[in-house]
Amino acid sequence: MKKTIRDYELEGKRVIIRVDFNVPMKDGIIQDDTRILASLETIKYAIKKGARVILFSHLGKVKEVSDLEKNNLYPVSVRLGELLEKSVLFSSKTRGVELEKMVSSLQDGDVLLVQNTRYEDLNGKKESGCDEKLAEYWASLGEVFINDAYGTCHRAHASNVGIGKLLPNGVGFLVEKELCKLEKIMQENTHPFVVVMGGAKVSDKIKVIENLILKCDKLLIGGGMAYTFLKASGYDIGCSIVDDDCLDFCQNILNQYGDKIVLPVDNIVSCSLESEQCEVKMIKDMNCPDMGLDIGPKTVSLFCQELKYAKRVIMNGPMGCFENFKYADGTKAIYDFITLNHIKTLIGGGDSASSVNKLSDPDKFYHISTGGGATLEYLEGKELPGISVIYEK
Ligand code: ADP
Ligand code: MG
Repeated sequence: MKKTIRDYELEGKRVIIRVDFNVPMKDGIIQDDTRILASLETIKYAIKKGARVILFSHLGKVKEVSDLEKNNLYPVSVRLGELLEKSVLFSSKTRGVELEKMVSSLQDGDVLLVQNTRYEDLNGKKESGCDEKLAEYWASLGEVFINDAYGTCHRAHASNVGIGKLLPNGVGFLVEKELCKLEKIMQENTHPFVVVMGGAKVSDKIKVIENLILKCDKLLIGGGMAYTFLKASGYDIGCSIVDDDCLDFCQNILNQYGDKIVLPVDNIVSCSLESEQCEVKMIKDMNCPDMGLDIGPKTVSLFCQELKYAKRVIMNGPMGCFENFKYADGTKAIYDFITLNHIKTLIGGGDSASSVNKLSDPDKFYHISTGGGATLEYLEGKELPGISVIYEK
């Protein structure tokens, strides 16, 4: 168990909280404030305990001078102030006398947001490269460090790992919840444990497959990645998406773990994503120009047959091109079956999370993991550097 914000006496302390305010921004206007809302629990807790709160976050990527203004965090400080119903101070610079003065005049319960940490990337990638001097400087501004930015935990940056190494530390409520849910579902010894994988490419998920196949009882493969497995099994997959570089990998996995793997038997095909026409076709009848864009009804039944007995499920990757409503039925049918039957399911992956929001009710799942890349690396069995740096209880 990692230390958390609850393990520290915060009153009168300068508490640095690394949050994830990487919100979609257009012309200085926040397009979706979900991430700001998600950070409130930890920030409000720190305020209530009398901390002097110093917030750090990145926003977008900063590679050249022209990236600075569009990734200015100022609008976030305004929105955060509205949500907290109190004024939030903002330092337009990531270092310097002005920032230091603001920090030293903070009173108990005050909140200061520091400019986008990636402004330091213009200066020789100091943030992303975890520059020691920068981390020392930032750490000198605080007394306790709390990491609540789950989405960047798979990166070793100055504002998470760098500061974390130098101060007494813990995780915030968001990271605590993510870790708790992921650890529980991976480690509990209940079976059958079913993994459902989909999405576009096998190549993005090789390590996830390698890790989860060892632990699960069944691996159901849908989405675009199924076609590389089907091709490796000898099927003509027509013009469907395929990772030819991964054919050997798929063949090996099928040879070793074939009895655990369930592949689609039918699918929804069209000649292109844009075409009006589409039809259900058995996999064995595919040929060009058929392009498989969703799993078919027989595959849905086959997958549900396996899910019916599952004690826990991890799902990563949609079953079809759900962004187009014509190819969303397979993914929706799987979600409906899971929620109707109250099957304990964790959903991981950025597109998977948005597909749940679009096609189902996120509250009906055991957990929807918010960090795309971080969750995938966790499912690969890797240690996340932003977590490793945090003290054990
Ligand atoms: P996640 O972000 O949840 O890890 P991925 O990024 O791996 O998921 O995959 C999501 C993408 O996979 C979606 O944009 C979806 O359109 C695409 N996809 C799903 N099925 C297919 C398919 N049959 N052919 C092509 N693309 C697909
Ligand atoms: Mg994705």
